[in-house]
Amino acid sequence: MSSAVNAKATKSNEKIAEIKRSLSALEHLSSGTLLKRMKVCGNPRCHCASDPAARHGPYYEWSYLKGGKLRHRTLTPEQADIMWLAIANHRKAKKLLRAWEAQTRNLMELKTPK
Ligand SMILES: [Zn+2]
Repeated sequence: MSSAVNAKATKSNEKIAEIKRSLSALEHLSSGTLLKRMKVCGNPRCHCASDPAARHGPYYEWSYLKGGKLRHRTLTPEQADIMWLAIANHRKAKKLLRAWEAQTRNLMELKTPK
């Protein structure tokens, strides 16, 4: 390999090492989406029926795919705290995996004789 090719390969390997470090720094990880919502209870005599500010909640609803089906689960505020982070980390991890793929393709191209 030429020195220019070597330098490019080294750069790609460094980027991959950095991606691995970033991934290993992630703690919680989850797919899905989390919604914070207020609800109306349905009792016509309850304040929530006429006053939007008197709605009940907040409720945290986590939606996720399981076996190809969309599921919903209500979380406690404590669980929601973890889930916000876990979902943000999942997004970060997917971005890192795409970057890892790109660097792998770079390395593969560098090793292909022209
Ligand atoms: Zn109500």
